[in-house]
Order: sequence, then C-alpha cells, then structure tokens
Amino acid sequence: MTEVATDQLQVWVDQELCTGDGLCVQYAPEVFEFDVDGLAYVKAADGELRLAPGSRVDVPEHLRLEVIDSAKECPGECIHVVRGSDDVEVAGPDAASD
Ligand code: SF4
Repeated sequence: MTEVATDQLQVWVDQELCTGDGLCVQYAPEVFEFDVDGLAYVKAADGELRLAPGSRVDVPEHLRLEVIDSAKECPGECIHVVRGSDDVEVAGPDAASD
C-alpha cells in the first residue's frame, strides 16, 4: 500500500502565461527549467521535463520555500502549488490567501 503524505505539495506551470523571465529557474533549478521554446516547465525527480500541459511534479521537501516563493513572485502568475491530498492551491494565482 502506498502511504499518501497529507502535506505533499505538487507544482505545475501554465505555459500559456509564462513570460520566460526565468525567476523560477533561478529560485529552484531542480524543479523548473526552460525548454527550447524559452518557457518554464516542471521537472520531476528523474530530471526529465514534464512537457504535457498541466503536468504536475512533487515538490521536494527541501525546496518548498523556493517553489512557493516562485509561485508568489512569478510575473506571469502561472505557477500553481497545490496540496496533493486535496488539490487545494496553497500558492499561486488561485490560492485563497497570499
Ligand atoms: S517565474 Fe513564471 S513567468 Fe517567469 S519563467 Fe517561471 S513560470 Fe515563467
């Protein structure tokens, strides 16, 4: 049986709104990376970019703050950090509070 961590965070990027400024890539290069199109994508633990729209990856424990800060400061307002257990957005344009 797989145990689901209640506070596991996941992150995805809406490339439609990404400005390509690179703030997120600077903050958390383990999680965000540019593809050849100059837009930011999320990267999983295997180091592969997830190119499909809406793809989510787990946020590594030690990068939670960096990923949350990226979402709060992303100029495109297109980084979404959600709680894996209930899909509630905790940082990003759809978060209830800042
Ligand atoms: S911070 Fe936001 S707008 Fe800037 S590159 Fe990252 S996802 Fe795109």
